[in-house]
Amino acid sequence: MIPVAEALSRISRLQPLGTEAVPLPEAQGRVLAREIRADCDWPPFETSAMDGYAVLLSDVATPGVWLSERGTTVGAGDPPPAPIVPGEAVRVMTGAPLPENAAAVVPVEQSRREGGRVRLDAVPAEGAHLRHRGESIVAGTVLLPAGRRMTGTDVALAAMAGADPVPVFRRPRITIAVTGNEIVPVSARPGPGQLRDSNGPMLAALCQERGWPARLAPRVADETGRVERLFAEAGREEDLLLTSGGVSAGDFDLLPRAAEKAGFEIVFHGVSMRPGKPVAFSRRGDTLWLGLPGNPVSAAVCFHLFAREAAGRLEGDAHPGASLITARLSRGLKAGGPREVYRDALWESAGGECRVEPLSSFGSHDLKAYARANALIRIPSGSPALEAGSLVECLVIREGAPPLALESAT
Ligand code: AMP
Ligand code: MG
Repeated sequence: MIPVAEALSRISRLQPLGTEAVPLPEAQGRVLAREIRADCDWPPFETSAMDGYAVLLSDVATPGVWLSERGTTVGAGDPPPAPIVPGEAVRVMTGAPLPENAAAVVPVEQSRREGGRVRLDAVPAEGAHLRHRGESIVAGTVLLPAGRRMTGTDVALAAMAGADPVPVFRRPRITIAVTGNEIVPVSARPGPGQLRDSNGPMLAALCQERGWPARLAPRVADETGRVERLFAEAGREEDLLLTSGGVSAGDFDLLPRAAEKAGFEIVFHGVSMRPGKPVAFSRRGDTLWLGLPGNPVSAAVCFHLFAREAAGRLEGDAHPGASLITARLSRGLKAGGPREVYRDALWESAGGECRVEPLSSFGSHDLKAYARANALIRIPSGSPALEAGSLVECLVIREGAPPLALESAT
């Protein structure tokens, strides 16, 4: 067994898949393969921030002065106008280029026009309502680094820089295969000893959340031949094979041996964590296999830790993991054992700090408790008991959705 940090570090060495170009409007959620730099200053020219009058400061030293208004108004998109002559005000609209000697703009709201003249009722400070060329961005600045997953506003920055199409890394193709003789499809009514497959749909949904195309394969029975066929065929349609179940030490946990027999090289099998101890990671050439434990909560926790790291690195994501926060415990926690613990929890921001409540769960099969969680508290191995109010580190696993208020079973 290796520590979680070591497992993550081994996965993090994966190299990104190839690159491709996508039209800019489709780039949100994709990982940039090359940095994007500004190809011009921003703003690109001296411009007005208001509809108003461009003036020389010497002409507007007192409120209520009358100036002669230039005959033409300058609008956005017009060529740069001639310099202001003393005693003159130039009517400019928002986004219009300014005369090169404009010192300030007085908003129209603070003016009155009358027969070719205008009265300005404000004494502007130097630079008032002007936007200077390059004040926000100087040409050549890196706007977006390579390895960044693009947000909607990143798309706007890339547009400013003329980046269309956008160079991005290829998305990893994922196949999800659940194993277990007891597992029946969601559409079936489970017979004695059977249960419905919740891991397959859950893993597909978690992949979808990150934009990774995932295919759900038919359930694999716990039979040596069937499991060996899974590994023999792996890599035809996927970069990453994600399985659930069959990786622990039971009589029917056939996956690690079958993977090795099919030529996969085990990168690790067994991580010192709770839940999720039996998780396995292995590769054959360009094909990766991540074997998640079958218990639904273990599968989910291992997805957030290891599947996101693996698929994220394949996609060139420089920060593939869940974001981390430090939060104050709302109630105490017992001392941790030798393994690192990932505990379902609800975090919220209250009164200027993050608070986190560990959820009561029956264990790693308790999907109902886990479904309420929006964070996992990370409790280091050998941690002493923690009192309410202690600061703990948490992985944020869900943003946005409100916590589920569920009835208790009893
Ligand atoms: P395993 O890792 O194969 O030993 O499975 C551990 C536990 O998880 C068993 O109780 C399984 O019934 C359960 N389990 C395995 N696969 C799934 C699945 N796809 N959906 C829901 N529960 C599962
Ligand atoms: Mg099983």
